[in-house]
Amino acid sequence: MTQQTIDLRSDTVTVPCSAMRQAMASAPVGDDVYDEDPTVKKLEAKLAEMSGHQAGLFFPSGTQSNLVALLSHCQRGDEYIVGQEAHTYKYEGGGAAVLGSIQPQPIEHAADGTIPLEKIHATIKADDFHFAHTRLLALENTIGGRIISQDYIASAGALARQHGLGFHLDGARVFNAAVGQGLPLDAVTSQFDSVSICLSKGLGAPVGSVLVSNQELIEQARRWRKMVGGGMRQVGILAAAGLYALEHNVERLVDDHALAQSLASQLTDIDGLKVRDNSASTNMVYLADVGGDIEGFYQWCAQRGLKFGGRDPVRLVVHKQIDQKQVDRAVQLIKAYFEAN
Ligand SMILES: *Cc1c(COP(=O)(O)O)cnc(C)c1O
Repeated sequence: MTQQTIDLRSDTVTVPCSAMRQAMASAPVGDDVYDEDPTVKKLEAKLAEMSGHQAGLFFPSGTQSNLVALLSHCQRGDEYIVGQEAHTYKYEGGGAAVLGSIQPQPIEHAADGTIPLEKIHATIKADDFHFAHTRLLALENTIGGRIISQDYIASAGALARQHGLGFHLDGARVFNAAVGQGLPLDAVTSQFDSVSICLSKGLGAPVGSVLVSNQELIEQARRWRKMVGGGMRQVGILAAAGLYALEHNVERLVDDHALAQSLASQLTDIDGLKVRDNSASTNMVYLADVGGDIEGFYQWCAQRGLKFGGRDPVRLVVHKQIDQKQVDRAVQLIKAYFEAN
């Protein structure tokens, strides 16, 4: 008997449900490069409102949305301060440097995922022609599944403003941060000058991100988006999936978080297995110190129908297509591996 694969690699593996597909099929559309797609406008306006910003701009991917945000904040020769593990720095092909001549200034994270404020302070450069011009502070929330505290965001924002820096959030999973704290979206997004929000992660849309900011930055971003090939035509078909996701898939993120919690606590009970501290504060669980043959561990699980993301550390991500049964089965498999190895 073959069992369905339990895919815990990422929340990007979710596929649209039939109601979402229906909404996509029946969406009114127009040419969005002519600013004539009503569904895209509706999505942009809705996320701007929800996030406490003036305007929004739809992108095919979060990578492009983050890139365009950096290009809109920074000029050639400017610098942005960013976490060493942040997506905008580590996982976007160096786009800001390649396409924007923007110098990243990465900083090591603290264990809670924040970038220590004194380190940020120490790397903000003086106005001296020897140095790149420090222009922007970019945070990420959630980062590695961890929620960045509201206090930290307030302090980091104050520091950025004090030094005249822009303040950007890579909020690919910012809905997880909001729902995880029982807060409305704007409570975790309105502090920033710009926020990039993914619709294709836990929210379950097939594609798309929205950048929200003030009107002026969004107009600049529209120009940059065109330059990097992101001007799209009857794209309301995709925006409709995003609107559907905002209506139906936000509150249910609490279910993902509860399942991640269940996964983490069951894994903790397995002898010899450690789960990273504050794992499962949202939808991700990380195994600490699996040790030994990680690739062998991965292959053993994959052959038995369990896939997870990351190798070091091993990352397990809960999403819309995962239920308690699958979580329990995943735990059984991992337990069996550690008993046999
Ligand atoms: C997925 C992700 C992105 C980029 O989104 P894509 O749509 O895959 O390009 C940006 N930041 C974070 C933290 C992400 O997880």
